[in-house]
Amino acid sequence: SVFLGIESSCDETAAAIVARDADGRGEILADVVLSQMEEHAAFGGVVPEIAARAHVEATDRLIAEALEQSGISLSELDGIAATIGPGLIGGLIVGAMSGKAMAYAANKPFYGVNHLEGHALTARLTNGVQFPFLMLLVSGGHTQIVLVKGVGEYERWGTTIDDALGEAFDKTAKLLGLGYPGGPQVEAAAKAGDPKRIALPRPMKGEARLDFSFSGLKTAVRQAAQNLAPLSEQDVADLCAAFQLAVAETLRDRVGRSLARFRAEGLAAEDRPALVVAGGVAANSAIRAVLTSLCENQGFAFVAPPFRLCTDNAVMIAWAGLEREAAGFPADGFEVPVRSRWPLDAKATALIGSGR
Ligand code: ATP
Ligand code: MG
Ligand code: FE
Repeated sequence: SVFLGIESSCDETAAAIVARDADGRGEILADVVLSQMEEHAAFGGVVPEIAARAHVEATDRLIAEALEQSGISLSELDGIAATIGPGLIGGLIVGAMSGKAMAYAANKPFYGVNHLEGHALTARLTNGVQFPFLMLLVSGGHTQIVLVKGVGEYERWGTTIDDALGEAFDKTAKLLGLGYPGGPQVEAAAKAGDPKRIALPRPMKGEARLDFSFSGLKTAVRQAAQNLAPLSEQDVADLCAAFQLAVAETLRDRVGRSLARFRAEGLAAEDRPALVVAGGVAANSAIRAVLTSLCENQGFAFVAPPFRLCTDNAVMIAWAGLEREAAGFPADGFEVPVRSRWPLDAKATALIGSGR
């Protein structure tokens, strides 16, 4: 099967063409992404109104580019998949309407995909990962640990009770006077810093529930920065290094517990089940180092799809549509609504089409 995928839930407009063979192997035939990063940079975060307008301007062109790149015509497609949630409602409407209109005009099945399901299933395309596996999603909008049991079968084990991890990086960068997006800037500044000079909390460390909390950490950075003001370049580097260490140690605790739970519940179908990371924060090398050693110690395979497919893209949306089709899920009707909130658990996925 060959699917067109469309993604427009946040600040990336993307279109892709992906094929899946009978053995479940995927091939990316086209992958176009337009990031709005620069348009939002001046505001230090994503502005919904600007995002929606940019999606309107870019979507048709990107879809045409993807079709052209792949050499596949609209009539040769087996289906069209678009993100219908969760995300910013304006962008979701643009992508979903484009997908539905094309599917209607070309008489193709339409699949409304959960953005998080896209992230969850990507490692099956890139690394052939088998079910069940654990996913750590750490992006600008999400911080979750999800047990992926099968297509459409997800158990959310942990989530953030306040800020997403990428958001915490971005806010920390902003209060230290670094640019947007903050993650790469914090990582770069931390290289010259002493992570031990300034003591910061390890939120949620040791707690039995697998949730996250990052807003207190960000506040602790703000207080430490106020105590040191005016900040020298070395102060900023030390604060970034301390922040990154606090994040890494928090993840070691939260993810370590999750791997132990996976074992304790006897879920492993293979010798070395996979821990899959997704989301832009997965680019951070300090975080990767912690996760890699955790996985080694606990007998898991650490799987990180290529960075381009860890951040928002349409390949994962086309792929999720293909996986849903192959698993026997029916296509969605054109009435299927977009949803700004849509948790990725079995019940919510089954409720597709019945509103919030
Ligand atoms: P969504 O949750 O909808 O996927 P998003 O578009 O904000 O939202 P991504 O594009 O996956 O998410 O990731 C962007 C985030 O990743 C930003 O918050 C950015 O600061 C963070 N990030 C990128 N590189 C790094 C890095 N090297 N270290 C830490 N954080 C990083
Ligand atoms: Mg993004
Ligand atoms: Fe995302």
